[in-house]
Amino acid sequence: AADLAIQTLSAIVADPSLTAREPGSGALAVAIPGGQRLFHARPALPKEAAAGLFSAAEQLEIRENNTAAAVDAYRRLARTHDQTVRAGALLRLARTLRNSKNAGDALQVYDELETLETAGAGGLPAPAAALWGRCTLLEAMGRKQDLREAATRLRASLDKGRWPLTRSDYEAFAAEAERWTGLARPKDLELLTGVVNELETAAATTEEPVYGARLVRASGVPVTLVWRRTREGFAVFAATPAYVAREWLPRAGRTVWLKDEAGADLTQPVGPEPVLRYPGQTRLPWTVAVATPPPAPELATRTRLLLLLLLAVGVFSVAGGYVVLRALLKEFALARMQEDFVAAVSHEFRTPLTTLVQISESLEDGRVANEQHRNAYYRSLSQSARRLQRLVEDLLDFRRMQSGAVEYRKAPLNASELARDVVAGFQREVDEQGFRIDVRQCAEAHVVADSAALGRALWNLLDNAVKYSGASRTIEVAVECGQRDVGISVRDRGIGIQPEEQARVFGKFYRGGEARKAGIRGTGIGLAMVRQIAEAHGGRVDVKSEPGIGSTFTMTIPREENRWPVS
Ligand code: ADP
Repeated sequence: AADLAIQTLSAIVADPSLTAREPGSGALAVAIPGGQRLFHARPALPKEAAAGLFSAAEQLEIRENNTAAAVDAYRRLARTHDQTVRAGALLRLARTLRNSKNAGDALQVYDELETLETAGAGGLPAPAAALWGRCTLLEAMGRKQDLREAATRLRASLDKGRWPLTRSDYEAFAAEAERWTGLARPKDLELLTGVVNELETAAATTEEPVYGARLVRASGVPVTLVWRRTREGFAVFAATPAYVAREWLPRAGRTVWLKDEAGADLTQPVGPEPVLRYPGQTRLPWTVAVATPPPAPELATRTRLLLLLLLAVGVFSVAGGYVVLRALLKEFALARMQEDFVAAVSHEFRTPLTTLVQISESLEDGRVANEQHRNAYYRSLSQSARRLQRLVEDLLDFRRMQSGAVEYRKAPLNASELARDVVAGFQREVDEQGFRIDVRQCAEAHVVADSAALGRALWNLLDNAVKYSGASRTIEVAVECGQRDVGISVRDRGIGIQPEEQARVFGKFYRGGEARKAGIRGTGIGLAMVRQIAEAHGGRVDVKSEPGIGSTFTMTIPREENRWPVS
């Protein structure tokens, strides 16, 4: 970056066209000798007529105080062709008229004098003397408006470097022009002009090199001075630090600034720990300081992109981890449920089997002599056998349902009749335990269903109602004929289900907390089957339950008319 900056700055400083253009504010380009500037070190003043030419007229004017004769004499002299004589005569004529309070005529004379561009008068270029005289006269007359206009013209002429003026003449004009117009003096330009003039003076006495660049301090301002020999003399370029900072530095790079030989900053520093290149190394007028460049914006964007990508990867990892963890937990829970299921099934088998073994042994041994007892034993036997059979069928059916292999043999049937039959069969099973099952039904409960499957589902619900009834002994079955569906519900007044469990009881192998705690037998597949069956019939199963109050399970099956409109 430092090398590049120095290359650029060197090219700017050495560019021959640098001094050929109008540089803009804060800099001055001048050709020496001549060259238009505010003032000169040794101006070549235009020629003046010898003072002796006017001595006769001045005698009349000053010694004899004969104004009319003096005016005549000056006017005669002013009619000659020699510009220098005319200029000298007009300046003196104006003076005479002013002194004799003939201001109007004096202004006219100044007008004429101002046109004599190449002559000198009173140690000044004639037009400068005329304009200056006009201003002082207008001020004396109190014509403020005219004065401001004339003084503005004076300032404009100074700015253009229209006349070769000494520094002191310029200073006098500039100070008065500022007072008359209220316009600020061009301080920068005055400073730069002074520096250029000094170089010119120095060049006249010493042998300046062909090309040079130097930092010159004027009134405390470090002015950058660049010059080059031309055929006529020199081309000089002088610039304030503000100009250099504005016009040149941006081309050198964003991290570059300049210092003087003492190490003081000339332009705004842009960063710490710079690389420094001294004038001795670079032949530039300043010490060039370069800070470490900030990362390129492209790099910053890439870094941002990378960060975003990392963030995305992070988010995906966390999300992925969460999903995997959840799946694993689910898997673990299922495995545990399956274990519980195996234990539960074994337990389910053991109870009726034990009964079977014990009773059949008793009968075999002929230990039951009483006919009545024997009949009760037989009933028990067949009950346990049926329970075992249902259990095995449940398990087989459940497996078939899970694999989707079960086939439903659907036929139109009346759900009320089916419910009545199932309840009658179930009632016999639970008679001994004192359960009473009420059935409410409607006549038009036409559905299309697999009677065995629907019966099995209802049986499961009844079985649960008994199992989870606690001390209660009433169970209500209701078949309701809705407009579109038939509802078959089983209601008990038992232990109920916790609200947070209600949605989960239809999951396979799921057993309620209360059920397990109370040691109530079960495998966790009963309600899963009910749901399978209800859904296979285009319906659904819902539960309404309150712990300690009871539960109502309702299967909703579409009415027959909904599927096959009655013809
Ligand atoms: P289980 O063999 O455990 O009865 P189910 O699938 O039939 O399996 O029922 C799942 C769970 O739902 C039961 O463990 C029990 O917690 C709860 N449940 C089912 N029916 C009832 C009911 N009528 N009253 C209270 N809880 C019930």
